[in-house]
Amino acid sequence: MSMLGRAVVALMPLVPRQIVGRISRPYIAGETLDDGIARIRALGDQQCMASLDILGEEVAHVEETEAFVLQYLETLERIEADGVASNISIKPTALGLNLDPTLCEKNLRRLLTRARELGNFVRMDMEDSSTTSATLDLYRKLRDDFDNVGVVLQAYLKRSLSDIEALKALKVNVRVCKGIYIEPPEIAFKDRQRIRDSFMEMVETLLAGDCYVGIATHDRQLVERSFELIERLRLKKDAYEFQMLLGVSPGLRREIVKAGHTMRVYVPYGAQWYAYSTRRLKENPAIAGHVFRALLSSKS
Ligand SMILES: Cc1cc2nc3c(=O)[nH]c(=O)nc-3n(C[C@H](O)[C@H](O)[C@H](O)COP(=O)(O)OP(=O)(O)OC[C@H]3O[C@@H](n4cnc5c(N)ncnc54)[C@H](O)[C@@H]3O)c2cc1C
Repeated sequence: MSMLGRAVVALMPLVPRQIVGRISRPYIAGETLDDGIARIRALGDQQCMASLDILGEEVAHVEETEAFVLQYLETLERIEADGVASNISIKPTALGLNLDPTLCEKNLRRLLTRARELGNFVRMDMEDSSTTSATLDLYRKLRDDFDNVGVVLQAYLKRSLSDIEALKALKVNVRVCKGIYIEPPEIAFKDRQRIRDSFMEMVETLLAGDCYVGIATHDRQLVERSFELIERLRLKKDAYEFQMLLGVSPGLRREIVKAGHTMRVYVPYGAQWYAYSTRRLKENPAIAGHVFRALLSSKS
């Protein structure tokens, strides 16, 4: 992490909530489902689909998972009622993965069942490496019974290609991303170019194996390499989609849409926006610069 990044991490508790809110506005739809739906409509006007994520990660008590399930069920109903183009993304630990994997499975089955009735889809996000095996085990079980479930694999993890080999036969639906958590060098590539090469190898292996791929990146090099791959494999539009985070690289997003590719934007919303924002601000030195500037301007 850069010096500026480290300084921001140290200063983060001092940043007023209002400023964090202002800086995060482009990246988070807002606190309510209405806010999420409004953003999806705006994205629809730009020929983008969405994946709604209710902010919040690992829960400390079993009862908290129920609140997430109910909110996600409401979200699915609302997507249907409003006729907007969106699926949902969930974090397994928010549904209890680390507390009680059986409960987590039950929670996911409830969501998947309702999503299937509505013709919708549920993506299981991938969290830090302590959850990778449990998430993939759970995904495999659910995939046996549901077609409308997808998972995420991270290009920085050295294990990911062998995970693909183990999953490929299930004709999985995988979002490929670089990976956002800080992982030790024993299990994760650290070199930027090595991570990019791993990303492309994963995308190609999945596509060649007839798996649906969500190409989740804002990295122009990866987007261009993906364009070449799509052309080389003569892929149809229903074999893949590009995915980006709300508010990130809108120019590149427009270029991808203009070139005729499917685009889905990850739209986070919810009451826990503050915890999510501070974590993202700590992780991303580019945003950290904005925090600094906003802090300084608020004092002047
Ligand atoms: C739709 C989607 C879903 C994701 N789901 C997961 C998941 O389940 N598990 C997981 O570990 N990771 C997830 N990620 C995050 C991913 O792993 C990367 O950390 C993130 O996308 C940055 O990698 P990059 O490929 O965009 O390349 P980078 O080289 O990191 O970024 C390229 C450029 O994009 C911009 N940028 C990238 N990220 C941000 C940001 N957050 N805020 C502002 N600017 C940014 C910067 O300008 C940067 O220079 C997801 C990403 C996307 C797009």
